Amino acid sequence: MEEPQTQTSSPHVLLFPAPVQGHINVTLKLAELLSLSSIRVTFVTTEHSHRKLTLHSDVLRRFSRFPAFQFRTISDGLPVSHPRTFSHHLPEIINSFISFTKPLFRDLLISGHFGSDLTCLILDGFFSFLVDIGDDSFKVPIFCFRTFGACSSWAILSVPNLIKQGQLPIKGEEEMDRILDNVPGMENLLRCRDLPGFCRAADPNNDPILQFIVSMFIRSTKFDALIINTFEDLEGPILSNIRTLCPKIYSIGPLHALLNTKLSHKTESLNNLWEVDRSCLAWLDNQWPGSVIYVSFGSITVMGNRELMEFWHGLVNSGRNFLWAIRPELVKGKNGEIEIPAELEEGTKQRGCLVGWAPQEKVLSHEAVGAFLTHSGWNSTLESIVAGKPMICWSYAFDQQVNSRFLSNVWKLGLDMKDLCDRETVAKMVNDVMVNRKEEFMRSAAEMASLASRSVNPGGSSYLNFDCLIEDIRILSQ
Ligand code: UDP
Repeated sequence: MEEPQTQTSSPHVLLFPAPVQGHINVTLKLAELLSLSSIRVTFVTTEHSHRKLTLHSDVLRRFSRFPAFQFRTISDGLPVSHPRTFSHHLPEIINSFISFTKPLFRDLLISGHFGSDLTCLILDGFFSFLVDIGDDSFKVPIFCFRTFGACSSWAILSVPNLIKQGQLPIKGEEEMDRILDNVPGMENLLRCRDLPGFCRAADPNNDPILQFIVSMFIRSTKFDALIINTFEDLEGPILSNIRTLCPKIYSIGPLHALLNTKLSHKTESLNNLWEVDRSCLAWLDNQWPGSVIYVSFGSITVMGNRELMEFWHGLVNSGRNFLWAIRPELVKGKNGEIEIPAELEEGTKQRGCLVGWAPQEKVLSHEAVGAFLTHSGWNSTLESIVAGKPMICWSYAFDQQVNSRFLSNVWKLGLDMKDLCDRETVAKMVNDVMVNRKEEFMRSAAEMASLASRSVNPGGSSYLNFDCLIEDIRILSQ
């Protein structure tokens, strides 16, 4: 596809993702899609994320083909040496954003630092607090970009009602399997353990993380529109529920697949905050089709050494080949120094390939990969759906508990091992998905992959919704 000629009179959109891998990755895809549609884009990231992104990826070169695209950075208010690990420092990161970055962002917007001709802001749904609704200093429409799916978003939006009805707090482990029958559209589906991880708080009314996340989700429904990385054939009924709160919704996912359609070829994601180890692709080339389980828990999950060992034993004991992306900070207190345990050395050498950070989209579309053991992050889920690979879900936090419940019980795309972490379960589920129930899961995965593909191809729902989004942004700029 020829790159578009962007005029200075074209609409100008500011994008600002939350500073985590999954959000930055998918927001850059949205930025690329907007740029391909001759929209001028200013992409704001924190200085810290920008440093990591430009160190480990070719993102600057990739966007240099759009002369009207610009990166801008802003401080998150934390010292350079701060580790910024989401799993450990979330309250600190949020507080710094509220007290430091929010007023700075407002000043920079008002002073025209990002351009004096902004058509609209597209803010990450997580960071919708960055702008006060109704602030008269700048009258630019604000769209929310929701990088979570509709099912988890709707569950989060339902939390205040669950608290009001006395369904929360969860009173203990014995209540975890209680079914919640009063989340509209999810009747008889969600158990307490399937609610977003933060709903396990002992005192929901006073839990700062729960209160922050729920208020961000409610607030983002008040913006001018919601852009969401999902597709109607996957989450149509739940999207209808969200439309009762926020009528203007553009469901335009899976975004990475829509980008491939618009570029007319499969493009590799270059938006990595860690160095990608491509050696695993050559390893995969030497494996039989469908014989490998790919294992990755995303960019935020952390686990203890016990869990690491249970997964490791389970994978080796399963007798299947495995490719495992062990991110440097995955295991608490290890900081990247993970040694293969002596008793697993032989099995790992025979059947395993370990990398720090994998080229995930490429890995998932490799014919050697038969299934994905995942933490059920939304990007990973969509990437696996597009690649037609069944999943085993070990959810960790945020939206992942809801995603994994939908994946196993609604979409029937795999198994949910939520809250279990023992070697027997790991080995059994790997074999159930890859051998014993392979046909059943492969069939539903292929069907869903075909629906995903249809949605992003010309005439499909996401394709058309994206065109509407572009048209509406153009109208705003006139
Ligand atoms: N990812 C990757 N290589 C890895 C692990 C993850 O490229 O080894 C990418 C993955 O393709 C996805 C993102 O990192 O786009 C993770 O996002 P997700 O929403 O799945 O989970 P999060 O990291 O936000 O928990």
